[in-house]
Amino acid sequence: MNFAQIKDLKDKVLNGYKITRDEAVRLAGTENLESLYYSANQIRSKFCGAYFEMWSVYHQNTGRCENDCTFCPMSSVTRVNYYATCDTTGVEGQIESIRNLSAKGVKNFEIDTTHRTLNDEKLTEMIGILNTIQSKTNVNLCASFGCLSFEQLKRLKNETKIKAYHCNIESSENYYPNTCTTISLSDKYETIRNAKSLGFYTCSGGIIGLGETMEDRIDMAMKLRELKADAISLNILLPFPGTPLEKHARLSNQEILTTFAVFRFINPKAQLRFARGRTLIKIIEKEALRSGMNSSIVGELVVNAKDADIDNDIKLFEDEGFIIRK
Ligand code: SF4
Repeated sequence: MNFAQIKDLKDKVLNGYKITRDEAVRLAGTENLESLYYSANQIRSKFCGAYFEMWSVYHQNTGRCENDCTFCPMSSVTRVNYYATCDTTGVEGQIESIRNLSAKGVKNFEIDTTHRTLNDEKLTEMIGILNTIQSKTNVNLCASFGCLSFEQLKRLKNETKIKAYHCNIESSENYYPNTCTTISLSDKYETIRNAKSLGFYTCSGGIIGLGETMEDRIDMAMKLRELKADAISLNILLPFPGTPLEKHARLSNQEILTTFAVFRFINPKAQLRFARGRTLIKIIEKEALRSGMNSSIVGELVVNAKDADIDNDIKLFEDEGFIIRK
């Protein structure tokens, strides 16, 4: 697409038009990258304003996962013992950490578990943990407990005060079988649809840099639009030692920025969130913030965020003109 075609498409999106897959593919292939990134930023500005959300993530230790996600250090196919490196402070330690981050401006926290889903007994335990954290902090909580059933999500809705539910679809339908064979995408879609129907703010997304094509990423973005995901997490593969992707080559900066911008064209109103792998793109963070992103995990997801990271992150986001939503 040339400059005029990108501008024309952007103007249509600003007026409510939903771009087609074919248009997204042509957009991603443009040589007018500055125009693409600038236009994506304008779309973000029109539909999301200057507000920026910071999130942090806390793992609940529910044991090594039985699934075979190729990118994940907790999976059944990794050679390393991830839990040996995990935070062992337990819920009380996490509450203290959440309070510290909250005092610095982070108001959103995702509590996640391993496994495809949770049984009812484990869900009861997690509901207790969510309520304990909620009663001792003043923050927004999101749960990421895998493919819960409709009845289980209803329990979560009725027995806690959490407003958000997270479930990643990871990649396109075409590429996903290369990434995970033990969880069906249809179960993930159903979980997101059920969470949405129960009134949860839904967060989903995936990983780029697994070996998928730009068209796969576009298909993932189109699916997330169809699922009406309120927030989209975009992870960049961190090749963990011991995982099948440990020697995988990193995506180019241009491909990463183009992906972010095209996601914004396809999902104008979604919160587009930097997730795992931010440390790999330090050099282009500012450009990414000018290409349609408006949310971020703070710190790095492998371990819980450190205070120093937060100060630097807040400065970066505010210097780019964002207002941190508290
Ligand atoms: S289901 Fe989650 S924890 Fe388990 S292997 Fe996949 S990404 Fe890792």
